[in-house]
Amino acid sequence: MDTIRITQPAPTTTRELRGLELYREKANEITHEGRGVYTVPGCSATQGRGTYTVNLAVFGGKESCDCLDHRHHPECSCKHLVAVTIHRAKTTSRRRREAAARREARKAVHANLASLAGAGV
Ligand SMILES: [Zn+2]
Repeated sequence: MDTIRITQPAPTTTRELRGLELYREKANEITHEGRGVYTVPGCSATQGRGTYTVNLAVFGGKESCDCLDHRHHPECSCKHLVAVTIHRAKTTSRRRREAAARREARKAVHANLASLAGAGV
């Protein structure tokens, strides 16, 4: 009997899963403070802490978060860093799509103007 092998993606870490969960629950509460720095809500109100500051180091340096997990394991991306990374990827691609749509709309206007000018209107 033949065996069918299915390639599995690399196992995800608990931090990645918790970051994804945090993004799903609180994406609309993640705020960009500028220069790759974001404020991220905590997972639950019972943890006592409202928000965390995440720096994605998009202008160099090392990414950081001021939570306990990242302080104790700076080699790992904590759930806040994962959530912000997802947020940034999603908002960046949305901004690119919107900019491309605006470019296409401008091109259409210019083409219409050119055809009107060519028609002597
Ligand atoms: Zn963190």
